[in-house]
Amino acid sequence: MPALADVVSELEGHYDPAWAEPWDAVGLVCGDPGAEVRRALFAVDPVEVVVDEAIAGGVDLLVTHHPLFLGGTTSVAATTAKGRVVHRLLAAGIALYVAHTNADVASPGVSDALGVALGLQGLQPLRAEVGEPQDKVVTFAPEAAVAQLLDAMSEAGAGVIGDYSRCAFLADGTGTFRAAPDANPAVGRPGEVTRAPEVRIEMVAPRARRTAVLRALIAAHPYEEPAWDVMELAVMPGPRGLGRVGELAEPVTLEEFTSRAARALPRTSWGVRAAGDPRRVVRTVAVCGGSGGDLAADARRAGADVLLTSDLKHHATSESVADLDICLVDAAHWATEWPWLQAAAELVATTVETSVSTTVTDPWTLHAASTTGGT
Ligand SMILES: [Zn+2]
Repeated sequence: MPALADVVSELEGHYDPAWAEPWDAVGLVCGDPGAEVRRALFAVDPVEVVVDEAIAGGVDLLVTHHPLFLGGTTSVAATTAKGRVVHRLLAAGIALYVAHTNADVASPGVSDALGVALGLQGLQPLRAEVGEPQDKVVTFAPEAAVAQLLDAMSEAGAGVIGDYSRCAFLADGTGTFRAAPDANPAVGRPGEVTRAPEVRIEMVAPRARRTAVLRALIAAHPYEEPAWDVMELAVMPGPRGLGRVGELAEPVTLEEFTSRAARALPRTSWGVRAAGDPRRVVRTVAVCGGSGGDLAADARRAGADVLLTSDLKHHATSESVADLDICLVDAAHWATEWPWLQAAAELVATTVETSVSTTVTDPWTLHAASTTGGT
């Protein structure tokens, strides 16, 4: 049975807390890192009905998307709803762990699960974060030293491209130099001009590993004064970011897409509503779990016909439909984030018994369709 610290470490391997927004509050809220975890419950909101479910299910860990305390607090007394959550979790020996904006931007993250639930294919970030900055490190060495250099530089972090490691490009050429009279050259003689066959070695390396890679290069190189170049590569969009955009298998009208979204997402009293021409044909769809109304311009730039998100406002929606020529679909906030729970649970399912909360914690509990009557 894993310790809580092991489960947290597994989750943080996919949802690094460093990716969270500065205002966010992610990570372990309560719980002993050394405690054992047999069962874990995944839910959107750390609210009392979810605590009821956690206690009834005999879980040791509750993982939620939303933080319990987003702002600071000076009291966890059981005189408020949040204080009672803390008390009841502690009394039942249940830890609480939060993965919020770090799970939003992860790849795969919250909006990937939403996009998959809606049947979207080829999902890409809507507002991509820049990828990890990379260098290209180049050196020149005799053939006999190439293997040891590749080993040393890759050991220091160079040469990783996706699932491939120790990647390098090698090109044969000729190096030339005149060693000073008091030098100690590995090839040639002091004071003489030397021409020697050399291999040009090129490897990519994370910029953060630059010093380590250069130290490894210099230590493994047979020359007294190795020649090397470091070039900073252009920073490209990475796989992480807010929202996702993808394609439906075939185009449908906005009306049909809205009905499909209502069927694909968990039931809430709010349901799903749409802004735009109901007969508009949509195929490219942008999504953002949670409040993503400010992504409308990004969605349009990405070629989306429609953006599905939550918490949309009157003026911004009206202006987006008119000025950006994009349709908007407004779903319940809770429902847009719920599909991620299963994906998160699967990350730890090999070592922990997991379950996903089906308690609807969307705050809206009633909805009445308008009928004829006053305006
Ligand atoms: Zn949210």
